[in-house]
Amino acid sequence: MALTLFKKAHLLASMALILGVNSNVVASEKVDVVASFSILGDLISEVGGDHIKLTTLVKANGDAHVYNPTPQDAQAVKHAQLLVVNGLSFEGWMPRLLESAQFKGKKVTASNGINVLRIGEHEEEHEENTDEKEEVGHHHEGPDPHAWNSIANVKIYVNNIQSGLSQVDPDNSQEYKQNADIYIVKLNTLENKLRKKMEMVPLTQRKVITPHDAFGYLAHDFDLEFMAPQGISTESEASASDVAAIIKQIRRDNINAVFIENIADNRMVEQIVRETNTKVGGKLYSDALSGSNEPASTYLKMIEHNVTTIANALTP
Ligand SMILES: [Zn+2]
Repeated sequence: MALTLFKKAHLLASMALILGVNSNVVASEKVDVVASFSILGDLISEVGGDHIKLTTLVKANGDAHVYNPTPQDAQAVKHAQLLVVNGLSFEGWMPRLLESAQFKGKKVTASNGINVLRIGEHEEEHEENTDEKEEVGHHHEGPDPHAWNSIANVKIYVNNIQSGLSQVDPDNSQEYKQNADIYIVKLNTLENKLRKKMEMVPLTQRKVITPHDAFGYLAHDFDLEFMAPQGISTESEASASDVAAIIKQIRRDNINAVFIENIADNRMVEQIVRETNTKVGGKLYSDALSGSNEPASTYLKMIEHNVTTIANALTP
């Protein structure tokens, strides 16, 4: 009996040893990378190709402003060699997750080096337009985290990801550089195409409403004006006075379309549409990619869908 137990224990120990060795082999073949949310996940796949094993924490159509990490997330972070986050206070839940998972890898902040917009900055440029605007979209102060909605910024994101991957896996650095360069050419081509598309929209027709203020960088790049009852984060609900201020503004100004979003609470937008007869321009993908059965399953598809949807809704 004692011998049997000993043999069993010995066998289990041997199995653990074999499994341990196997998982080390796997780890040395592919770099363990964790992305905080779906848009970064797509950019990392483009640069990392076959050399990485990617885990994305906040999945397609998920809201990264408000997220509760799972035990599986903590496991993924614990073993990650590279973690890529957006930064600019987007992932407020991340510091606690890194601490509890005892993260020991390399962390890359994808937005490092971009031209940061401050919350409300874009609106202040149009200060002469209205006095009521101050009531709208100023729930928080600080940097606007939604920097991926500028293609110019995403080129910087891609270079930061490439540099991070090259540091943790120098053997494949040339390939990461090559992948990043190829992807940046695609971004440039798309940027030119979308710029031409938006040129068709008269400058007086460029005021739109979205549930939350996710498009400040897109507005900056494409000379658009967005208003959002919910403000910069989905964390705070739009108050009745926010919605009332927007309704008042729609009635006074020439607001051309209202959009719904994949991650936000669209109820107040529906209320605005009911009370003002404004046109619903379609669905925008703001802080997350769509699933594969929807039109925004990659970053390139997402930004093209968003800009095209806006331009089509605003073209007279
Ligand atoms: Zn957002």
